[in-house]
Amino acid sequence: MLHPDALPPLRHHRLWRPKRVLVTRGARAFPRALAMAERAAALGAEVVELPNDRLTGLASGESPAADYRLAKNTMAIVVASAAKRRLQPIPPSADWRFDLAEGCPAHCQYCYLAGSLAGPPITRVYANVEEIFDGLAAYVGQGTVTSASAERSGEGTTFEASCYADPLGVEHLTGSLSEAVSFFGRWDAPVQLRFTTKFADVSPLLGLEHRGRTRVRMSVNAAHLIRFEGGTSPLPERLRALGQLARAGYRVGLTVAPIQPVDDWRTGYAALFADAARELAGAPDLDLTAELITHRFTPKSKGVLQGWYPASKLEMDEEKRSRKLTKFGSVKHVYPAATMKEMRAELTGLLGRHLPQAKVLYWT
Ligand code: SF4
Repeated sequence: MLHPDALPPLRHHRLWRPKRVLVTRGARAFPRALAMAERAAALGAEVVELPNDRLTGLASGESPAADYRLAKNTMAIVVASAAKRRLQPIPPSADWRFDLAEGCPAHCQYCYLAGSLAGPPITRVYANVEEIFDGLAAYVGQGTVTSASAERSGEGTTFEASCYADPLGVEHLTGSLSEAVSFFGRWDAPVQLRFTTKFADVSPLLGLEHRGRTRVRMSVNAAHLIRFEGGTSPLPERLRALGQLARAGYRVGLTVAPIQPVDDWRTGYAALFADAARELAGAPDLDLTAELITHRFTPKSKGVLQGWYPASKLEMDEEKRSRKLTKFGSVKHVYPAATMKEMRAELTGLLGRHLPQAKVLYWT
């Protein structure tokens, strides 16, 4: 068998090219913002310097579809305010959530951001990255997620950077994720940076001094569900990238999401784990986790997603789901208990067979 390192480099990464970049006045005080704008301009973006810090011109006024297209082609370079820099706990993924960006240029018909971010789906990237990093130290040792898990206690306090964005999807424009990896690598405290991604261009990360302080998870799904993930990297490229990261010494993981019992799902997930095992074969000291997340929706996320993708064939039928109340009292629609039990047993069994090294962090 050809060793994955002997394969030619991947050349088909889909790098996002925003058509328009808005730069707020506040952001222009940070040299990093200008560097980001220059990178976008070099890729053909029109750069608009706003007179103040208010984002304007976000709607075309033509139609919802035109508004969506305009937003998804827009990047805004802004300053993360003090309120945005206050961290939130984010169980079960990590102790704390912090953000380098907010929004994502891809077009996943089950995007988890639909229920959490309001307004037009533009991508905001933050210019004050050093201020964001400076705010993290106060949270070291404060988390409750990692320390409560025997399997994860060796990871230190965990900081999740992909709750409101896919930070690798904009890395070619921002460079912020590489800065974060290097920052955590230099940090002399028990900490870990975590992020999950559907993008495969990991080349900026491979040579960094990460010192094992970063866990990169690839967000993956059964191959026949990837058609719902417009604008992301193809699944084989994501798995290949995960192998490259593992061989570069990164801790790695699979975020399997959103799991759905579509036709032939057993075969689909078996093939996924077999392919992942092939790409990870031979990685020295492999440290691999798996996070298993089933599909769910809320009335709000369903409404937003149906507005964005009116022709989508994604199943969001309340009749086929169980109602569950969140801790905030709102409703979410999940698979019935018997389906959940069946899928959980099957996927954990398949993982054990194909990737016995994987630590399953949670099923939800
Ligand atoms: Fe949403 Fe992630 Fe898809 Fe981006 S890659 S659209 S954040 S689900």
